[in-house]
Amino acid sequence: MTDGCIFCRIIAGEIPGDLVYQDSEIVAFRDVHPVAPTHVLIVPRKHVSSVRELAEADVELIGRMVLCAKSIAEQEGIAERGYRLVVNCGAEGGQLVQHLHLHLVGGRQLTDSIG
Ligand code: 5GP
Ligand code: ZN
Repeated sequence: MTDGCIFCRIIAGEIPGDLVYQDSEIVAFRDVHPVAPTHVLIVPRKHVSSVRELAEADVELIGRMVLCAKSIAEQEGIAERGYRLVVNCGAEGGQLVQHLHLHLVGGRQLTDSIG
């Protein structure tokens, strides 16, 4: 756990999170400020601050995060209609929390463009 990291604290159960999935490597919980009916954050238990910090050894972890998003989308009933997976990286990428996370967003028509 990294001191002062809000997602590490949620993973550790120190502060509440609305968990939708967890296993030995990944935790997924609802975003506190959802931008759509489904807005889930898929987070590795291990503290990796951003895509920038990813290493070759993390390839499998990233794959698991994407597969986790896929199964949560099915659970949420949005798989067929479609959804968006987003990873923000760094200041200009709009990353606010410095613990790697994959946004799963869906449940409404997403109209805004990528940038
Ligand atoms: P970023 O901009 O870093 O990609 O996204 C961070 C996300 O984390 C934001 O959508 C924000 O609403 C969410 N968030 C920030 N603090 C908390 C928190 O304490 N709990 C939960 N569930 N989500 C949070
Ligand atoms: Zn962390």
